Amino acid sequence: MVIQFNDFRIQSPQEDHAIRVAVDRVLKSGHFILGREVEDFESSWASSCECRHSIGVASGLDALEIGLRSIGVGPGDEVITTGMTAAATVIAITRAGAVPVLADIDPATALLDLESVERCITKRTRAIILVHLYGQMRNTKKWKDFCEQHSIALIEDCAQSHLAIEDGCYAGSIGLFGAFSFYPTKNLGALGDAGAIVTQNDALAEKAAQIRNYGQSSRYVHQVFGFNSRMDEMQAAILNAKLTWLEDSTIKRRNIARQYRSSISNSYVGLLSAPLFEENHVNHLFVMMTKHRDDLREYLMSRDIQTLIHYPIPVHRQPPFSEIAKDPLGLPATEAHAAECLSIPCSPHLTSSEIDYVTEMINTWTPLQVI
Ligand SMILES: *Cc1c(COP(=O)(O)O)cnc(C)c1O
Repeated sequence: MVIQFNDFRIQSPQEDHAIRVAVDRVLKSGHFILGREVEDFESSWASSCECRHSIGVASGLDALEIGLRSIGVGPGDEVITTGMTAAATVIAITRAGAVPVLADIDPATALLDLESVERCITKRTRAIILVHLYGQMRNTKKWKDFCEQHSIALIEDCAQSHLAIEDGCYAGSIGLFGAFSFYPTKNLGALGDAGAIVTQNDALAEKAAQIRNYGQSSRYVHQVFGFNSRMDEMQAAILNAKLTWLEDSTIKRRNIARQYRSSISNSYVGLLSAPLFEENHVNHLFVMMTKHRDDLREYLMSRDIQTLIHYPIPVHRQPPFSEIAKDPLGLPATEAHAAECLSIPCSPHLTSSEIDYVTEMINTWTPLQVI
């Protein structure tokens, strides 16, 4: 049997029951868009992240774009982020009308590199989008200070970092706002598309709630320019049900990562630097590096282990972004990471014998080229 990278089937009879109850509740309510379920989820998610507000939207991409628009980022503004992310991070900046600028990453973590960001700052820089890639929060206090010094906004892309904590603060609670995705692969996944903005800022929250619903402040009164990015009741009800298991599945992910870290040992394989504290990392993905990636992928696939690559082509190498502005010194660490990174299964459905098997297969691998 293949060890799947992700398994989206319902994981337990309890979860199955909870989701059916939630769906049934929505069917009986006769209310399908922005109702009680969305309000309940927004309030639970805000308190899970220790934020004053959470605004449910249609996707993670929309959460970023609406957040940017809510703080007035638009034409003439530059926003710095990483090219080692889901393209959505950069698409959101472009869609808000601003200019994305890519800085390089720190090869030890694959997260934004501060010195590279410094080289990207101009008079027009309005914000930095910090991506808590793979589930890691790191140096967020330092980034906050850095942004304050330069009078620019700190924004958190939390699409991979649900419930990560650093220095006692949850992902999303440190920047001006945090943007979450609940795409099915994420640590908290809906059964369709969904996203949320979290923030401590009352005015920002109000504006974001208007923008997601045609810019309306009340019915048929359009206060600002907006569009349709409403969360639906069905997804909100499912998220309300699935939220019950998020802490549990986060612990499972941490256990898997701990097991991998303590037992993967192969001189042809490198690991990212371990988190300072386990709570800093929610292990959305477990990423290794090797110069013989195709070989390792094939070897693992032939032993029934699925792997994926996050991300094989950095944003600046994608045709729509071939002219994108970037660090004047280039993005060598981003390029090297894209060429060598490999994500191995670490989703909470894996059993401990499956983890042992994956580890053993990695440890006994030698690249064909060197045999
Ligand atoms: C998934 C993801 C997004 C986009 O979320 P969608 O809900 O798919 O729009 C943005 N940023 C990162 C880092 C992601 O992983």
